[in-house]
Amino acid sequence: MNCHEWNFLVFLEGIFIPYSTPMRLNPFLKNLPVYQPGRPIEEVARELNLPAATIIKVASNENPFGPSPLALAAMQKAIAGVNLYPDGNAFYLKQKLAAKHGLEPGHLILGNGSNEIIEFAAHALLEGGDDGRNVVVSQFCFAIYPIVAKMLGAEIITVPARQYGHDLPAMLRAITPRTKIIFVANPNNPTGTLAPREEVIQFVNDVPDNVLLVMDEAYIEFLNDPVDLVPLVRLGTRKNLVLMRTFSKIYGLAGLRIGYGIGSTELISAFEKIRQPFNINAVAQAAAAAALDDDEHVRRTRANNFAGLDFFERVLRELRVEFVPSHANFILARVGDGAKVFDAIQRQGVIVRPMGGYQLPEWVRISVGTPAENERCVGVLKEVLGR
Ligand code: PMP
Repeated sequence: MNCHEWNFLVFLEGIFIPYSTPMRLNPFLKNLPVYQPGRPIEEVARELNLPAATIIKVASNENPFGPSPLALAAMQKAIAGVNLYPDGNAFYLKQKLAAKHGLEPGHLILGNGSNEIIEFAAHALLEGGDDGRNVVVSQFCFAIYPIVAKMLGAEIITVPARQYGHDLPAMLRAITPRTKIIFVANPNNPTGTLAPREEVIQFVNDVPDNVLLVMDEAYIEFLNDPVDLVPLVRLGTRKNLVLMRTFSKIYGLAGLRIGYGIGSTELISAFEKIRQPFNINAVAQAAAAAALDDDEHVRRTRANNFAGLDFFERVLRELRVEFVPSHANFILARVGDGAKVFDAIQRQGVIVRPMGGYQLPEWVRISVGTPAENERCVGVLKEVLGR
């Protein structure tokens, strides 16, 4: 050991400890993009030196009415018991979800947000990714699918979008013998597009049995008459199908991180081996179970959303701002320089989402808020766009 190396020692409780040399990390991490979430109100308040109470966040497709009062009461009750580990199997919540969907609890797996279900799928099908395994997604798909797949070394086949939405027949044609998973969000985020129902049914039927089809239904509750794929799981027809749902959107529980997957018992029991035993905390379990009882909260949120989408579409048309007609709780608007407009809007205390990360640099995504939030957002947008 030379003197130079001595500089890299730390003397700790009588022992010299050398600095370690770098570890060999998963090589796929090196170029992995980092997901850019919507900015939290507190962060923007600090940065702009604005009172947090004056800022509105319409950047992450959350429920503007907050959680259901029933969920709030259940959370309050649950916090007194958080010295104990949660029920790792979420017995009561699974019973409720099973009854709601007419399924057995064995068809259900809970995730720390539905994001975690994406990871379960990836670990179950993609591990050991150096043999050219691939995942099929659409252009403008939810960013987490390619991130998780790349992390495990899978190749991504990105199918060009059709009018900003999924081109399901083209996605089917893109499947190769090495395709392991195909991800479809319907409605899609960030575009808000909905695939035609006949196409969805044909597609679910045509995806080969050896390819896992993940149908991400995070926004399904905002639809009036969605295609119901649950019977295909209930009857065991499509064993390569997983549906994903979340409590983050219409149920207003995004901060608790809870979602679920619906699939064949074979697939779900494989996913269960990947799941951490206590991935859903006790407060989230209690809140989610209570939220399922509050039909009025869901109905009110959906009605507000339809009215909000109508409002935005009308105003954007008046302003001659291009938009993608939306079936979800947000709208994509072509505002010019998306990053610049996002920044200018944010300076006025309204946080929207710039879309550069989705290769949509001219667009911002605006979540539907309360009527007052929508008005404020449009007022600021008009000002920023000089209209
Ligand atoms: N899928 C889609 C299409 C989404 O937009 C989102 C949230 N942005 C998620 C999944 C993940 O939601 P969560 O993890 O909060 O359940």
